[in-house]
Amino acid sequence: MKLSEIMKERTAFSFEVFQPKTDKGMSKLPDTLGHLCKWKPDYISCTYGAAGSGARKNLDVCKLIQNAGTIPVTHFTIIGNTRETIKEQIQDYLDNGVNHMLALRGDLPFGCIGTGGDFEYATDLVAFVRKEFGDQMEIAVAGSPEGHIACKSPEADIAVLKQKQDNGADYIMTQLCWDMEKFAYWLDAIRKAGITMPVDVGIMPVLDQAATINMALSRNGCAMPQELTRIISENWIFPNPFVKDPFDTDVEGKKARFKEAGIEYTMKQIARYRALGVEGIHMYALNKYEDVSAIIARSGMRTIV
Ligand code: FAD
Repeated sequence: MKLSEIMKERTAFSFEVFQPKTDKGMSKLPDTLGHLCKWKPDYISCTYGAAGSGARKNLDVCKLIQNAGTIPVTHFTIIGNTRETIKEQIQDYLDNGVNHMLALRGDLPFGCIGTGGDFEYATDLVAFVRKEFGDQMEIAVAGSPEGHIACKSPEADIAVLKQKQDNGADYIMTQLCWDMEKFAYWLDAIRKAGITMPVDVGIMPVLDQAATINMALSRNGCAMPQELTRIISENWIFPNPFVKDPFDTDVEGKKARFKEAGIEYTMKQIARYRALGVEGIHMYALNKYEDVSAIIARSGMRTIV
């Protein structure tokens, strides 16, 4: 069954993992996936290496996801890809039973201004895959509730999203967004723009101070509500959470209190999203299962979903 069809019937639930960089990371992944699958996710997606690297490893991760007992969704970017390499890789996925993808432009490699491939935008990839492969692939696309960092305007970004739908995309996976007012405004705006695709919301669990700041600001320009900045400030590791050897005398205590407050915050956020009527909850598992499992268990989400 298509995931977008599941989302039209009930709220879907899923995880995202990334391609491990090392063999050790890869060898740990089956255990992690096994634990995540105990929550019976509708699917697990796997990131595509930055700058189009590691496509082969990405397929290996998809196979591990299949073996763990759920549907793999491969992320796929146009960075450095030609029409031919896209065709070859998509065929390879299909031949291996992977028929769900997230069609992305991809993060531009540091210092580059273009994709270095045949296409410049995700809209082109969606149209190309539909033309070449018909309905064999279910296609998700990225949505940015706060507007993509490089978009000309929020309205222009929504017009791009409509184009993705018109080109044949099936559903939306969103960028992380902590600002619920902005999210609600965007949800209303895309529906008014005629975008009917289900919205699967990306949830970044708030677990680590440096990672939380990094995810928000290094690429995405995400707003952090005061409720979140207070948690960061109350547990600030001095001189700052990015240094390797902080002089703070309570590093471990602050990390633990930050994580606990972050778990509570993430649980509240999931409830707020669900109250807005989103069609899917997609948790970035960060290749670990303990903390996300705590969030799922304590929120009662899997008994509600
Ligand atoms: P696009 O939709 O192509 O948009 C990029 C920019 O161009 C936007 O500002 C848009 O408004 C503008 N634009 C689009 N079309 C046009 C047009 N025709 N004319 C003018 N302007 C246009 N990156 C990875 O490298 N690997 C991953 O695995 C990965 N996973 C992700 C998962 C999710 C859920 C999300 C939300 C993002 C992910 N990313 C990943 C990051 C993503 O690749 C970046 O956000 C990237 O900068 C934009 O991708 P996009 O598909 O939204 O691009």
